[in-house]
Amino acid sequence: MRLHQLSVVRLILLLTFALLEQTASAQEQPNILFIFSDDHAPNAIGAFGSKINKTPHLDRIASEGAKFNNSFCANSICGPSRACILTGKHSHMNGFLRNGNRFDGTQLTFPKLMQNAGYQTAMLGKWHLSSDPTGFDYWEVLPGQGSYYNPDFIQMDGSRKRYHGYCTDLITDMALEWLKNRDGDKPFLMMCQHKAPHRNWAPHPRHFSLYKNEDVPEPATLHDDYSGRSSLLRQNEMSIRSHMRWAHDMKFHGDVLFPEHFGTSPGRNGEYGRMTDEQKATWDAQYEPENKAFIEKMKAGKLTDKEIISWKYQRYIKDYLRCIQAVDDGVGRLLKFLDDNDLAKNTVVIYSSDQGFYLGEHGWYDKRWMFEESLRMPFLIRWPGVIRPGTDAPALIQNIDYGPTFLEMAGAEVPAEMQGRSIVEVLKNNGRPTASWRDSIYYAYYENAAVHNVPVHDGVRSDRYKLMYYPRTREWNLFDLEKDPQEMRSFHDDPTYAKVLSGMQKRYHDLRDFYDVNSAVIPATRGDEVWWKERDRTLTANARNGKVELAFIGDSITQGWEGRGKNVWQKYYGDRNAINLGIGGDRTEHVIWRLTHGNLGKIKPKVAVLMIGTNNTGHFDQDPEEVAAGVERILEILGERLPKTKVLLLGIFPRGRDRLDSKRLNNIAINQIIRRFADKERVHYADIGDVFLEEDGHLPASIMPDALHLNEEGYERWANAIEPMLQELGGWE
Ligand code: CA
Repeated sequence: MRLHQLSVVRLILLLTFALLEQTASAQEQPNILFIFSDDHAPNAIGAFGSKINKTPHLDRIASEGAKFNNSFCANSICGPSRACILTGKHSHMNGFLRNGNRFDGTQLTFPKLMQNAGYQTAMLGKWHLSSDPTGFDYWEVLPGQGSYYNPDFIQMDGSRKRYHGYCTDLITDMALEWLKNRDGDKPFLMMCQHKAPHRNWAPHPRHFSLYKNEDVPEPATLHDDYSGRSSLLRQNEMSIRSHMRWAHDMKFHGDVLFPEHFGTSPGRNGEYGRMTDEQKATWDAQYEPENKAFIEKMKAGKLTDKEIISWKYQRYIKDYLRCIQAVDDGVGRLLKFLDDNDLAKNTVVIYSSDQGFYLGEHGWYDKRWMFEESLRMPFLIRWPGVIRPGTDAPALIQNIDYGPTFLEMAGAEVPAEMQGRSIVEVLKNNGRPTASWRDSIYYAYYENAAVHNVPVHDGVRSDRYKLMYYPRTREWNLFDLEKDPQEMRSFHDDPTYAKVLSGMQKRYHDLRDFYDVNSAVIPATRGDEVWWKERDRTLTANARNGKVELAFIGDSITQGWEGRGKNVWQKYYGDRNAINLGIGGDRTEHVIWRLTHGNLGKIKPKVAVLMIGTNNTGHFDQDPEEVAAGVERILEILGERLPKTKVLLLGIFPRGRDRLDSKRLNNIAINQIIRRFADKERVHYADIGDVFLEEDGHLPASIMPDALHLNEEGYERWANAIEPMLQELGGWE
């Protein structure tokens, strides 16, 4: 063989290897196009069996890939769901518990790890995490909720740019623009995140004609009376019957005409305010004739209550579905771009939304509850060569799994601290759970006392059962999704479900352990209890007076200084500018909330007396280690905010009449742990429990009439016992 022939062979071999290598790395690192919307219920996607709308482009992802029927969020609300996705962790671990929190962008997120793995990353559209995006080579995001019409976008330099046009289309345009101009040599992660179909549902005019002359079918549970489940359901403020606002939701102009049906405040239709005159004219031509016809019928008294609810439902659901249509259009444009540019084969396409939504089920709009409609997230995924087209996946997946999944696709390591799990093994198993896959998911909602008044609750869901727990009322609700898919009745008190209940309770406690959920350290407001909210406000107002030298922090036993302990307080602390920061019924988590939400005001006391935890025992017999962690967190907060204040940490007072009372023993176990938090410089510890007890450990009614709260004599003993320490720590005489 002549020399040049050898060279040619070598060259061919080299080229072949190079090609093989390129193909291999391409397979290892597919592009990821993550299309995400806001509040899109699976029930409003054709592939998930929608009877009310058509979504051909979304359905295409399902038919060419997989749809997950058991896809759930970890916390059914906008910001928290996004934080769960970015971090692969539940809310209590990533710190973003509720809308209004600020995402700590310095923490570990999957886009940062994708960058490390060689991906170019982009984030366009709704972000909603307050802090700027991190982990992206390029981003352009809506401020807060953003707007449908002529929206502003925050730029990477912090400035804002207003675009003319419709938000959903603009975000798709931006995504396409970035894809066209990307570095073709690197794999990409594109997160294209829509505002739509979030409230207040302002559609594009090209979709005005949809459903124009037809009624969307009403769900069977539109007139749910909330019987057979927790009484907290009735306190909701998210019903189509009572909580649709005149201008904001229902698109009327002017003052509310029928306050008994629409409330007294119209709410502002901010979208209308952003429109150009031309857009306004198009808008009014759509809405005003229907509005006028409705107002006339109302004035003539022609509509029954039920018909009024139906009218509101149609107004709401049609606008909602029209907003979705623009999302589906955008998905179609992105899929076409992949087709036209030979990218479809090596790009994983995902469609999801931050949670589900009530489309009138249970009489509601909005989300938050752990019921199916808002717990479920749509999850469609296409990955040519890996996922069998048309896969109908039953495995239980959750939004904390997305990050680990993308990292595995990228060939990057999934950090152990991520709580979610890559679903790649499930994808390769035709969407079925593998032998070691999870049997149930954990869910927690924390946004108490906020808009829509949905209580804090958490729970577990298996393939068939769902157990929910409401800490405020300490109630379990148990649902059998096979027998009662609409969740109209809790079986927790049905004796035939006793075994299911105890089994699900065990799963609940085990999953909370597994995910490191300790409610004693998770800041919690009780603002849904009116008296608590008022007291909390009063304490915050009192704390604006910076003259405080001595603060007492705790629960009802501390609050009692204003009751039975009043005279003793006056005698001992009357001239020490003392403040009472106690609220009855509070547990460690509530004190954590209060101290970080205003209760410390401007005070800089010399000494803070802290006693807390007996309600963690009394309400739940909570594990002493967990309660101690709550106390430790409070000490940390005091250290951060009042570094010069000496803390006198008191052992939790004895409770129950005798020595072997189980709750007293729990408090003793907590005290054993918290005693060690004293550093004798900033934090000092004292256990004065003995001053209330007789020699044999009996707790007399003459000191604590109810075996928990002190009477005046009890407060005298308390004050007397700590006085020497106060004098030493505060320099009083
Ligand atoms: Ca949302």
